Amino acid sequence: MIQIEHIGIAVKDLQAAEDVYARLLGVAPYKREAVESEGVTTSFFRTGPNKIELLESTQPDGPIAKSIAKRGEGIHHIAFAVEDIRREMARLKAAGFTLLSEEPKPGADNKLVCFIHPKDANGVLVELCQERSVQP
Ligand code: ZN
Repeated sequence: MIQIEHIGIAVKDLQAAEDVYARLLGVAPYKREAVESEGVTTSFFRTGPNKIELLESTQPDGPIAKSIAKRGEGIHHIAFAVEDIRREMARLKAAGFTLLSEEPKPGADNKLVCFIHPKDANGVLVELCQERSVQP
């Protein structure tokens, strides 16, 4: 693991949450991006070396909608940057962690991602993300 890449926050209303975080952080979001496979629209903020990802569900039964129904809005996951996601996935699997996908999946902000089950990390949903090579 290299460092925390971003913190993901589940929100009910992306536009309203963008306004709140723009006021809180003093910067505008630098990108909005839909991730069809996860049923979310994301919005990213950068402050210094840190990134915040706001996530709004696009499906009534999507993972973010379910999380909000269960726990309300708030911190949803912590993402760690990794150099080689397949190597980290193999390492964590061997160490007894439950991976939520067998293969890395395309994530927001030009990443390959994989999630670790929160039951294995004291209730924290952990995301691994590897920067994808830039498309020509
Ligand atoms: Zn994330």
